[in-house]
Amino acid sequence: MSTTGKKRPTVKQLQVVVRRLWIACICLFVICASLLAVVIKNRSNIKLFGPDKKSSNTVEDVPAVTADSSDYVVCLDPGHGGRFTGTQGLDGTYEKDDTLKIALEVKKALENRGVKVVMTRTDDSDIELDERAAIANDANADLFLSLHRNYTAGDKSAKGFEVWIHSTNSDTSRAIASAILEGLDKVGISEDRGVKVGTQGDSEHNYAVIRDTNMTSVIAELGFMSNQEDLDLFNEHHEEYAIAIAEAVVDWLNTYCKK
Ligand SMILES: [Zn+2]
Repeated sequence: MSTTGKKRPTVKQLQVVVRRLWIACICLFVICASLLAVVIKNRSNIKLFGPDKKSSNTVEDVPAVTADSSDYVVCLDPGHGGRFTGTQGLDGTYEKDDTLKIALEVKKALENRGVKVVMTRTDDSDIELDERAAIANDANADLFLSLHRNYTAGDKSAKGFEVWIHSTNSDTSRAIASAILEGLDKVGISEDRGVKVGTQGDSEHNYAVIRDTNMTSVIAELGFMSNQEDLDLFNEHHEEYAIAIAEAVVDWLNTYCKK
């Protein structure tokens, strides 16, 4: 019997095989180390940033309340726009920019909760008041929510948040206005100025957008731009305010607009 058919590997060939094994081991080690690093990083992120305030935005991934019906429609109206700047803050900022910013945040929060949203404007454009009401009416919205910021030329100490409702002062309107204020108050506001009926100085008349819309309509005044405390509060908490407003709206829709 002969075994001469099989050649023994040369030393050189063995060296090549060993070198390749080494390279394979090193690659495997690098891959494992990278995976381990990712896992450790994620774990430490949860530990470090999990329950603190910064991560409260991630609450958006898991909304506290969601819409009972996918047929709810809310019309959001960022006050002013374009050449209609609205009031101007002590810091030189314009109301039209703040209202658009928070309206887009409320929109996102509502949509995350399963509510359809119609906007009267999504950019810095001029929209007449009657057009705003028409957009809400055409969409057959369940709620019209106009977002504004307040101003007083005189008393710079005037501050706080308020919500205006129709002169009929219905329980339904009052409920959404109160819920919004309650939600904002939980985030933290300078003062709850309460639910206001009609217009400033005349509870029998209504602001145009409230008067001309067919559904429950409110105007939320989100602090005074003539007051530094309110400016700071808005700048710091507008995202949380938006979520609070959205949650109040969803609760209200589920309670008062059952579909
Ligand atoms: Zn305004």
